[in-house]
Amino acid sequence: MVFQKLQEHWGFDSFRNSQKDIIDSVLAGNDTIALLPTGGGKSLCYQLPAICLPGITIVVSPLIALMKDQVSNLKSRGISAAALNSSLSNEQSEIVLNNIRLGKVKLLFVSPEKLNSPNFEQFVMNLKVSLLVVDEAHCVSQWGHDFRPDYLKIDPKRFKCPVIALTATANAECLKDIRRFLDIESATTFRSSFERANLVFVNYKTSSKRNMLLELLSKIKGSGIVYVRSRRLTKELAEFLTEQGISAMPYNGGMQNKSRQKVQDSWTANKTRIVVATNAFGMGIDKGDVEIVIHYEPPPTLEDYYQEAGRAGRNGAKAYAILMHNDADVLRLQNNFENAFPEEHEIKNFYLKLLNYFKIPVGYGKGERFFIDFKKLTYEIDIPSKKCYYLFNVLKKLELIKYSEHFFQPTEVFIRYDRRRMFELYDRNPKVIDLLQILLRSYEGLFTDYVRIDESQIARKLEISNTDLVKMLQGLETQNTIALRLRTEKPCVILEDDRVVKDHLRINMKKFDLLRAVAEKQLLAVQEYLKSNQCRQQFILNYLDEQDSNKCKVCDICLGSEEVDIVWEEELELIESVKAQISESGYTIDTLVKRFPHNKKNKVKALLTKMNQEDMIYLHDGRLKLR
Ligand code: ADP
Ligand code: MG
Repeated sequence: MVFQKLQEHWGFDSFRNSQKDIIDSVLAGNDTIALLPTGGGKSLCYQLPAICLPGITIVVSPLIALMKDQVSNLKSRGISAAALNSSLSNEQSEIVLNNIRLGKVKLLFVSPEKLNSPNFEQFVMNLKVSLLVVDEAHCVSQWGHDFRPDYLKIDPKRFKCPVIALTATANAECLKDIRRFLDIESATTFRSSFERANLVFVNYKTSSKRNMLLELLSKIKGSGIVYVRSRRLTKELAEFLTEQGISAMPYNGGMQNKSRQKVQDSWTANKTRIVVATNAFGMGIDKGDVEIVIHYEPPPTLEDYYQEAGRAGRNGAKAYAILMHNDADVLRLQNNFENAFPEEHEIKNFYLKLLNYFKIPVGYGKGERFFIDFKKLTYEIDIPSKKCYYLFNVLKKLELIKYSEHFFQPTEVFIRYDRRRMFELYDRNPKVIDLLQILLRSYEGLFTDYVRIDESQIARKLEISNTDLVKMLQGLETQNTIALRLRTEKPCVILEDDRVVKDHLRINMKKFDLLRAVAEKQLLAVQEYLKSNQCRQQFILNYLDEQDSNKCKVCDICLGSEEVDIVWEEELELIESVKAQISESGYTIDTLVKRFPHNKKNKVKALLTKMNQEDMIYLHDGRLKLR
């Protein structure tokens, strides 16, 4: 049956890796843990069982942006799926909930916050849940690279059904946490090697990174990602590359959703060759033909590095993962680490200043939401904005606040006039009257406070475009008829607790120290990796607790030169040509070399030595043979 479903819904001929075993385990009702590399095909491992099982499958997933893609992907395969998360209006959620009640949804994607909300808990009680999926399960662990406190609150017992946890990064500690926190101690575990045989890892120690970048991108002509550590640099380098005739666009978390989507689409469609991005780019991207991923600076952990580099060559073709670094980078990593783990008094001081800035009295504050204007904040509390940024993340880790750099704020309207005066004012403009009437009919409380409105819906009713609607609203604002907050995405802080008197403020330093220890270990591993002479891939796999890995035979270390000598495209062509000629006829070394043009002869000789060392060819009775 599973093969039939595989063909019917996905059009694939066969399973990959351990997909079949994992699916069988899930269908047999076992708790299951699946560790597969990025691009290894984890989605199928729960999606296929979901359509075989009688009830609904609930999928916990950390990224709201990904849910949308997954839902539309499933729908395109004729599978009914839906998502519930904070980006939906109440009305939209209600529609989804209704569809679920009617049994119309096989797979439901939810954010962990949603899963833990009391309403949802109540709702689930009346459902037949067949399977609980925890995707990106490393998020439960501080040993993973993307810890999310909300993941700790997932309580699988509640659903009374088997659980499958999936991740691409889980060292032994992280795996232990997944078992413990998800309460699946006896889960059957499938781990396929994280080895990526088609990836060529190369490190360059260099201080002229721009030149290096140009050289690399002129040698390797395919689609690529350049990862940098600052938003500013995404723009600068994208501009630089464009000036040099290489098509490139920047991508970072500071850009509006729309422009980010545009960049991603253009790159996915191969209209833009290179994306210069911060680590905001990539999660869930499924582009097979990425030929090169360059890290312009080393990332803070090897987990991050391997995940990001792993976006190259997902189609199985040879691809390059290049890491540039120099002494300044090592210092920067060290500095960032220190900034991320300040002293206790500094944390307390910041937290209290922040509460004062928000004007929170003792005994209040829990659940309150504040949008952050960094300029204003840093001026008033007199702490540089970069430092504030780090401290926000510290407070988040300590669960004192929730902090999001992009909090979606829908458009809100507040009508300043009373009903009668308002209509007197506008009796000569029918469109405006229509607009006001629609507002009053659709929403309550407009005269007392800001009310969220759904622009698209109103625009549709008025039969005008969203842009025109916004213009009309702005017109009304200028005339002081309404107060308007247009939709935006802003950094936002939500307080987790009421304010306590200063002396009672306790900070969980034990937890903080644990976090520091983890981060320090990760930092040391990166520093070690930059210095090491071990096969690159083997080093990383060892670090990820895969002890029996082989040498990759293609990284700069394996190819055995200090001054890196990568197998570039030209060389690859040469290898193919050498192989073709050897298989055609049993040449001696001399006769084969003579067949190549003069300027290639030396190269071919060197190549033959290398191919021999790598066991690609051998000599038999003085004649070349292929292995
Ligand atoms: P992961 O979540 O492990 O990173 P995905 O589930 O997104 O990976 O799968 C990566 C890609 O591999 C997708 O494009 C998917 O369609 C494809 N894929 C998965 N399983 C198979 C299979 N058995 N045969 C062919 N392609 C597959
Ligand atoms: Mg996935």
